[in-house]
Amino acid sequence: MFTDREKERYERHLSLSSFGAEGQTALRNASALCVGAGGLGSPSSLYLAAAGIGRLGIVDHDTVDLSNLQRQILHDELSIGSSKAQSAHQRLSSLNSDVDLEIYPERLEKENVMALFSRYDLILDGSDNFPTRFLVADAAWLLGKPLVAGAIHQFEGQLTVFDPRLPSPCYRCLLPDPPPPGTVPT
Ligand SMILES: [Zn+2]
Repeated sequence: MFTDREKERYERHLSLSSFGAEGQTALRNASALCVGAGGLGSPSSLYLAAAGIGRLGIVDHDTVDLSNLQRQILHDELSIGSSKAQSAHQRLSSLNSDVDLEIYPERLEKENVMALFSRYDLILDGSDNFPTRFLVADAAWLLGKPLVAGAIHQFEGQLTVFDPRLPSPCYRCLLPDPPPPGTVPT
C-alpha cells in the first residue's frame, strides 16, 4: 500500500502499464550500493533516489573539488572541500526523504568489501580505477550479487550487467586482468 504522498510522487510510475504498483513496491523493497559518488555515481544515485528505491548506499572516500562540478551533478559549490559521501547524503535526502540512505566516507578495500556488499541487492560500479573495479567485480561475483558496471573515457561509454544468478559471464571474462598501473588513464 502507498501513502497519498507516495501515490502523488510516483504517479507516472504507477500509471505505467509495465511498472505500476508492483514495480514500485519491488523498488521500495530493494537496496543498491553505489561505489563512487562521481560522474557515474551522481546520475545513478539521483535517479534511484528519485524513483523511490527503498535503501541506497554510497561509498566514496574522496572530497568534492571544483573540477568535479562540471559532471558530478550530486555536488555543488557549497560542498567543495567536504566529503562526497556527505554531500551525496545532503542532496539525495532533500530529493527524496523516504529513501533510507547509508553513506560510507571510506575507501573500499578487501577488508570491508564483503561485509558492505552483503547488505545490498544490487551493486553499481562507478569507480575510476582498475584496482577498485576488479575488487568490486570479484566481491559482487563471489557474493552472487548482480553488478551494473559503468565506465567512460572521453566520448565513449560502456554499461554492462554481470548477473551471477543467470548463466552470465563475469567481469574477468571480459577483462581477465587489470592493465599494468600507469598504462591507462583513470
Ligand atoms: Zn568469467
